Amino acid sequence: FVHKKGASLERLFEMRVGDYQSAPVVIPETATVGDAVVSLFLEDVGTLFVIDAAGCLAGVVSRKDLLRITIGNAAAASMPISLVMTRQPNIHTIMPDERLLAAASKMISYEVDSLPVVNAASVPGDPHKLEVIGRITKTTITKVLLELALD
Ligand code: ADP
Repeated sequence: FVHKKGASLERLFEMRVGDYQSAPVVIPETATVGDAVVSLFLEDVGTLFVIDAAGCLAGVVSRKDLLRITIGNAAAASMPISLVMTRQPNIHTIMPDERLLAAASKMISYEVDSLPVVNAASVPGDPHKLEVIGRITKTTITKVLLELALD
């Protein structure tokens, strides 16, 4: 693991989010907590992104959000996901041309497991809407580190 250390660090520094992002797993704002739990298992992810009717980022829902609402609450499955998600403008995002290290830094400083990769959406009348185009997770970063070390 010690050889080519300098070259690997240089490559890591130049990596951009857009080249390493994975496909986002999204659910509509109209989904229920039950729908979200099913998606989490079917898609094998820890976090779902919630999109509004225009297809833009509305919220994020994590494992813990779902556990918190589900535990001891028989009626949870039919509740709207919008009641439990973390919603805009509180979502930490990253853009495809930013450094992968910037994504790593945001996940650590904001204590979240993933970031939606977004572009500004051109929604008439709302300049703040974001289109979700990908996902960066702590696994993305771990894979890159392993590849650099084994390369
Ligand atoms: P888990 O809850 O499975 O440990 P996280 O640590 O990612 O997963 O989530 C912790 C909290 O932060 C949850 O309430 C979740 O909704 C919220 N969260 C997750 N990702 C983001 C993000 N990118 N921006 C803002 N909040 C987020």
